[in-house]
Amino acid sequence: IQPELVGDFGTLMEWADGIRRMKVRTNAETPQDCRTAREFGAEGIGLCRTEHMFFDAARITSVRQMILANDETGRRAALEKLLPEQRSDFVEIFEVMVGLPCTIRLLDPPLHEFLPHEDAEFGEVAKATGLDVDTLKRRAAELHEFNPMLGHRGCRLGVTYPEIYEMQARAIFEAACEVAEKSGAAPVPEVMIPLVGTKRELELMKAVVDAAAEAVFADKGRRIEYLVGTMIELPRAALRAGEIAEAGAFFSFGTNDLTQTTLGVSRDDAARFLTSYVEQGIYAKDPFVSLDVDGVGELVKLAAERGRATRPEIKLGICGEHGGDPASIAFCESVGLDYVSASPYRVPIARLAAAQAALAAK
Ligand code: PEP
Ligand code: MG
Repeated sequence: IQPELVGDFGTLMEWADGIRRMKVRTNAETPQDCRTAREFGAEGIGLCRTEHMFFDAARITSVRQMILANDETGRRAALEKLLPEQRSDFVEIFEVMVGLPCTIRLLDPPLHEFLPHEDAEFGEVAKATGLDVDTLKRRAAELHEFNPMLGHRGCRLGVTYPEIYEMQARAIFEAACEVAEKSGAAPVPEVMIPLVGTKRELELMKAVVDAAAEAVFADKGRRIEYLVGTMIELPRAALRAGEIAEAGAFFSFGTNDLTQTTLGVSRDDAARFLTSYVEQGIYAKDPFVSLDVDGVGELVKLAAERGRATRPEIKLGICGEHGGDPASIAFCESVGLDYVSASPYRVPIARLAAAQAALAAK
């Protein structure tokens, strides 16, 4: 029994675990969140959002340097500075999650979130790059996007700047080798590519990850088993899941973006009209909390079927917020997902909901 789940509650959780079919993972990117989730019974990481690591005060200037660099050489110089920190992020996570699968998602920020705004911030980037502030401001203005959530994010970043994903993959595999060496137990990385819409995007990004893995394994004289897979968070990806499955070993349903793009409703602005939509029965519930099973869910079901038709052993999970919502978890059971992933404090609820869903399906 986990320390926080003692007494009757712990017993209830044990019963639930004896009944449920789906695994329960967690969405976490700090060692502390990973520890909390493990105490609550998480069986792996379903989503480690690496962009959160890049907001760290000690790193943001290098991140800005990378984004505002004029060319690949400039980006690589900034990435070299970020590599050791990124490697130690993964070392800490692998140490906490040793032996359990860890889905690490490569960078997926709306780029504008990283841009400097204040003069002092531009000044720091100028010092780091040797470029003058006016040049940096012009470059930042060029990077402005009218609709960043549909813009240069997800694997589009990796396609245009493959060196970013190359650095992250190197950090993942170097960390995995280091932890395997120290602990004797090999980490289980599952590298996830965000915002994929076409098979070719996944193929290109998988090639970057595989090349980085081979380079690290040759250097360290040790191999680590890993998977490369994708988020399914765009309607096109769900519809073309049959061919996308040819390129990836797992799908994780990103139902936050999939809800946004399927309903055409901004996940950041929905609150303005949501209450009246629910009051008037247009939406049964907030679709960003509870899966819209007739709409978004239909795409999840179809993608699961098409993915499995191509690759019967494909691993299927969900990492959108819905992975911690009991009604949505019941839906995930009905379409046969292998796991749900929820924020650390929702892991016990997810364990219970997965058990109830399995009982209902009997
Ligand atoms: C999603 O889109 O459902 C997802 C998990 O990714 P993010 O919320 O980081 O966009
Ligand atoms: Mg997303």
